[in-house]
Amino acid sequence: MSENDCIFCKIVSGEMESEVVHDEEGVLAFKDASGKAPVHVLVIPKQHVASMAEIEQLPDAVAKRIFEVAQEVAEKTNVAESGYVFRINNGSDAGQEVFHLHAHVMGGKRMGMP
Ligand code: AMP
Ligand code: ZN
Repeated sequence: MSENDCIFCKIVSGEMESEVVHDEEGVLAFKDASGKAPVHVLVIPKQHVASMAEIEQLPDAVAKRIFEVAQEVAEKTNVAESGYVFRINNGSDAGQEVFHLHAHVMGGKRMGMP
């Protein structure tokens, strides 16, 4: 899939709707459309990178902000204390569906492995 028809790029540009939880220069967080936990938010770089295979293309500051924003989102959604999963599905065996790098923040119930 090219950047042009990437659904998360469309969310970043506003072409596609989302429930935004946090918005800043390089990073966006929005609710997962089919939440698998009471809190399920996706944190993405606004720059299109398909997966971890392209992580070196992200500026260091943006990569770090993905982690920090995840924690901020957890605090905002009241799961920071109870705990949450921070998860990146990467590639086919991990079940990655959207090839624009994103981190899941999931909590509000007991989350197991995997
Ligand atoms: P994965 O690529 O396996 O990490 O999962 C992609 C996630 O994106 C799934 O949890 C979907 O529910 C979610 N998703 C797909 N399309 C949208 C959308 N338009 N808005 C919000 N979340 C979405
Ligand atoms: Zn994209």
